[in-house]
Amino acid sequence: MYHIIIRRLSTQQHHYKLVVIGAGCGGLACASKFAKKLSKNEIAIIDKNDTHIYQPGWTLAGAGLKTPDELEKSQSQCIPTNTTWIQSNASQIQPEKNLVELDDGKQITYDYLIVAAGIQTRYDKIKGAIDALDNDPKHVVSIYSRKYVRNVYNTLNNFRGGEAIFTFPGTPIKCPGAPQKIMYLAEDLFRRNNIRDKTTVIYNTALPVIFGVKKYAAALMEVVKARNIQLNTRLNLVEVRANSKEAIFENLDQPGTMKTFKYDLLHIGAPMAPYEFLAKSPLADANGFVDVVKETLQHKKFPNIFAIGDCTNLPTSKTAAAIAGSNSILVRNLINLMDGKSDSVPKYDGYTSCPLVTGFGKCILAEFDFNGQPLETLPIDQGKELRLSYILKKDVMPSMYWNMLIKGTWNGPGTLRKMFHLGMTK
Ligand SMILES: Cc1cc2nc3c(=O)[nH]c(=O)nc-3n(C[C@H](O)[C@H](O)[C@H](O)COP(=O)(O)OP(=O)(O)OC[C@H]3O[C@@H](n4cnc5c(N)ncnc54)[C@H](O)[C@@H]3O)c2cc1C
Repeated sequence: MYHIIIRRLSTQQHHYKLVVIGAGCGGLACASKFAKKLSKNEIAIIDKNDTHIYQPGWTLAGAGLKTPDELEKSQSQCIPTNTTWIQSNASQIQPEKNLVELDDGKQITYDYLIVAAGIQTRYDKIKGAIDALDNDPKHVVSIYSRKYVRNVYNTLNNFRGGEAIFTFPGTPIKCPGAPQKIMYLAEDLFRRNNIRDKTTVIYNTALPVIFGVKKYAAALMEVVKARNIQLNTRLNLVEVRANSKEAIFENLDQPGTMKTFKYDLLHIGAPMAPYEFLAKSPLADANGFVDVVKETLQHKKFPNIFAIGDCTNLPTSKTAAAIAGSNSILVRNLINLMDGKSDSVPKYDGYTSCPLVTGFGKCILAEFDFNGQPLETLPIDQGKELRLSYILKKDVMPSMYWNMLIKGTWNGPGTLRKMFHLGMTK
């Protein structure tokens, strides 16, 4: 009898008008907007994680400019009160049945679904990386995880010279600027600690260029030259040998050919991959990302499903800034669908941003669209290293994230940009 009751409870179905998978940046930005329109019984947010992390701050934490703790809040403080929080993970989506199955076996049905589950870090794709991160934290570090970021600043600050290698992986990643931002900050720290002349700083990237947007790539090449940083392209880290302090890279221009680097310090830019439950669902494209129309964020096959953020195949950099630039477009399109209206909605242009911190007090504030064309907000040349951009990154953006973006009141800088640039043409 007891078993029957338990089974009934665990296979219980609940129905919501709107279900949001993921209470990270994108999930909350959208759910907060809907919380003003729907009632608590109509909107559910699925996410097991009880901590919300301001991940863009991890780069700053790596350089000792923030503490990891100040980047975290309890999820219960962040989830909009007018919604139902289901503290489980989604394990399966069956879009033909409008059904999400949870990891505890419960089933949730919906009229409309927003997928915002992010992307997973996969250090295991590099042989020996987890072993080295866990067991040799004085030499191998990474800002890309909640666990490992805590160790980065101590290691960088205690470094006493040698070969310092920073890597960029051969997979799509969130914030593709971060692996080099931490390098510039580390290089600056080495100068401050008077060990720069005893240190070789090397950036080994799987990409063919330092950055995907020409304007900012040119500016970064100047920085790399001026700071005497060695840049090697098309090198993908495939193995870390902690015992001999060797990092093995595959030359992507000659597949199968390996190059070994000795290191005294290794910062690993984490490989990433879509979550399996999404990759194997009918929502995924061939690469495992949720397949959306890039201008509307609506799923290409299932019109009652939308997706936002790192889990999507939007052809733009995976950033919180991209979520700021797209969340109101998703929400307005979905409201049109719910209300049977066809009010005009601007098309998402791919707006994304990467505040490329190049040292303590300096930052190149890259902002661009789907075509890699700069979409700068400020009426000044953001391709230059500016203190203003650094202050925006370090002090203004965190507050905008917590107080506006995840509360559904920040729709990106589009309006500001128009204001500034209109002012300039008057
Ligand atoms: C080191 C670093 C530096 C960065 N720097 C910047 C920057 O300078 N500027 C910038 O704009 N962006 C930056 N970013 C990127 C930014 O943090 C992400 O792009 C953004 O958080 C993506 O939001 P999201 O909602 O797609 O995913 P996330 O915010 O990661 O949220 C995903 C949520 O989904 C949940 N989830 C996962 N699986 C499931 C499941 N099966 N069921 C239910 N829930 C699930 C997770 O628990 C999580 O809460 C940086 C990121 C990192 C790591």
